[in-house]
Amino acid sequence: MTEMVDDAETLIKRIFPICRSITGDGVRQTLSALKEFSDFEIKEIPSGTKCYDWVVPSEWNIKDAYIEDSSGKRIIDFKNNNLHIVNYSIPQDKILSFQELEEHLHTLPQMPNAFPYRTTYYKKNWGFCISHNQFKKLDRNEKYHIKIDSSLNPKGSLTYGEYVIKGDSSDKEFLISTYCCHPSLANDNVSGQVLWTLLLQELKSRKMYHSYRFIIIPETIGAIAYLNKNEKAMKGVSGGFVITSVAGKGNFGYKRTYLGNHLIDRVVEKTFKELNLDYIEYPFDANGSDERQFSSPNFRIPVGTICKDKYCEYDYYHTSFDNLEFISASNLVETLKLYLMSIEKLEMNVIPKSLNPCCEPMLSKRSIYPTIGGQIRQRAVDFNKNHKERRYEVSGGRSIGGNELDAMRWVMFHSDGETSLMEIAEKTGFSVEQLYETTKKLEKHKLIKIQKK
Ligand code: ZN
Repeated sequence: MTEMVDDAETLIKRIFPICRSITGDGVRQTLSALKEFSDFEIKEIPSGTKCYDWVVPSEWNIKDAYIEDSSGKRIIDFKNNNLHIVNYSIPQDKILSFQELEEHLHTLPQMPNAFPYRTTYYKKNWGFCISHNQFKKLDRNEKYHIKIDSSLNPKGSLTYGEYVIKGDSSDKEFLISTYCCHPSLANDNVSGQVLWTLLLQELKSRKMYHSYRFIIIPETIGAIAYLNKNEKAMKGVSGGFVITSVAGKGNFGYKRTYLGNHLIDRVVEKTFKELNLDYIEYPFDANGSDERQFSSPNFRIPVGTICKDKYCEYDYYHTSFDNLEFISASNLVETLKLYLMSIEKLEMNVIPKSLNPCCEPMLSKRSIYPTIGGQIRQRAVDFNKNHKERRYEVSGGRSIGGNELDAMRWVMFHSDGETSLMEIAEKTGFSVEQLYETTKKLEKHKLIKIQKK
């Protein structure tokens, strides 16, 4: 895990300074940096491409932007912080009075030392973001030189990344998405891009049962364009995650899928429960990130989001204070573990079917039953040593988790070819991991087969 924290740290520092947007070289530089770490395909969709009700906009790039006073002193400089420029600002080079300039300045009076993140993707406009304290000090009688060295290229394109990890047995595919359009904002969403990359690397190194479609796209227009280009494949996706805001100082949170109790919700819930971790539950909300595209009527993909300091909920959200001091690589890796544990549960959620459905099979002749009778249910085991064997209280206060023989009996009892291990886990209080190990053992002894569904 230390290695993962180091990797997260390196990637965070590498991509944080880049000026990203929904199109442009900033996205390309970011994806190239992430790709060096874990390979994926980088693709382009030309500006002007119609995607359902939307059109991919002209590509925006920016070299420089500043405000100078009449003595030539730069009082705002994009090179100091790319949040100073309203993202997608059109080119400008002119002298303005304070009153003319004021209409294009954005501040945060409630957080006077920070400045906001603002965009103008679909309306040709321009602006600067500055701290309210600096704004108050501006000379009202001064003339200001505004320079924005940006370009909007109708022959450009929108850039995104994609990699599909093919599962070895199941025909189910899950979506792992994040967005790469925010400039220097750490929790929302440098952290999400880095977690996405580390998760991709980790899952590639494992043999996966299901398939996983990893996409890294600009928010909204990127998701819409991706769905448009990959409609058939996306209609077959069983569920997934939008990864965002994963490394803040505050609480873990989970935003549920639009279904509220889909398998995605249940594996996350079980993960938090097994780790005994407090988290804030957020119901599905049509506001938020790309889940509203993925879950729109034609697709209806149930998508959840595990966060650490969820977007919109922390004070520094979309401000210059969402910087490298606000997040940490170790927080990011803590959230990564939650994603991994949840995905492991998806992987283990097989459906056992009994090959011996008429009464219980004789376990002792297969040497999987304790040979000295009477000792069953008398063990005093410290189940907390290993989360895989943690025991839980189920309804009525009856403790039934932990015992291997019990696990075998419950798996065999529910092996009707319809009931998944997650359902058995929820009914019995066993962890999915323990039930999975038991299922594999029973499969080895030809007592059950694993159904594919
Ligand atoms: Zn955002």
